[in-house]
Amino acid sequence: MRMQENRLRGRVAAAVGTAALTFVLALPAMGQTRLHSGFNLLSESQDVQIGRQSAAQIDLQMPMVTDPVVTGYVTRVGQRLAASAGGPQFGYRFRVTNLSDINAFALPGGFVYVNRGLVESVHNEGELAGVMAHEIAHVALRHSTTQITRAYVAQAGIGALGSLFGRGSSGTTAQIVQSVGGFGLNALFLKYSRTAESQADIAGAQTMARAGYDPLDEARFFETLRSQAGGDPGKVARFLSDHPAPVDRMARVRQEAQLIGAHPAARPVGGLDEVQARLRRMPPAPTTAQVMARQSTAAGE
Ligand code: ZN
Repeated sequence: MRMQENRLRGRVAAAVGTAALTFVLALPAMGQTRLHSGFNLLSESQDVQIGRQSAAQIDLQMPMVTDPVVTGYVTRVGQRLAASAGGPQFGYRFRVTNLSDINAFALPGGFVYVNRGLVESVHNEGELAGVMAHEIAHVALRHSTTQITRAYVAQAGIGALGSLFGRGSSGTTAQIVQSVGGFGLNALFLKYSRTAESQADIAGAQTMARAGYDPLDEARFFETLRSQAGGDPGKVARFLSDHPAPVDRMARVRQEAQLIGAHPAARPVGGLDEVQARLRRMPPAPTTAQVMARQSTAAGE
């Protein structure tokens, strides 16, 4: 009995092994992963409306790097990626926040913020592009308003969907936009689902390749992050808590890079060394937590 069981188990294992091998071998022929944005009640222009409202608050309340050499460089890298991002034709805009944590975030409609700490910590332009491509992917796949839709439907009940598609539907979505009222600083704490994060990694790798970057640089940045976490855990704590484990992300990006296959490399925008040198000469940047604490004190909370 025992013997038969073992034999059977062995046969199953062999079959599974073969299947797995076939799957791996079949991967390159399958091409890159196709991604679809989720169900969304809001229009693309409502993405822009929400993003613009939030950006106005963030621009006022967060310290910004204004050195045109720094902002110009980040904008050029961003525009190159945005041109290859696919999705709606949002007018992407890039700002460098004067914050020391290694992080970046994006608002719906294409308002992208890159922390100074991130620009200072990358080893090359590809690593910076990797993080930015991930944020751009959240915008292009409209993850924020997909999430708002999900929250709205959960709260209002599925019956509300009927009226949304009926008369006066634009009035209802306008109400949703108004109740969101721009995420403001809450955008810094917005958490996406694991699926959305994984989609952004995959779409980010695809965008990198189309823009002429090596998608593996996105994976290599996770290594940089791990080494930074060893030296100064606080600097990367939020990034790590907002995103899935670096090891899993690295594996998925590597897999996608393989699916994409060979791609033409382009010259980098160039000038990262100069940008980093200029940032090093500036007074040290506060952390996000320090800025938030100062603001709640100022508000008398
Ligand atoms: Zn993300």
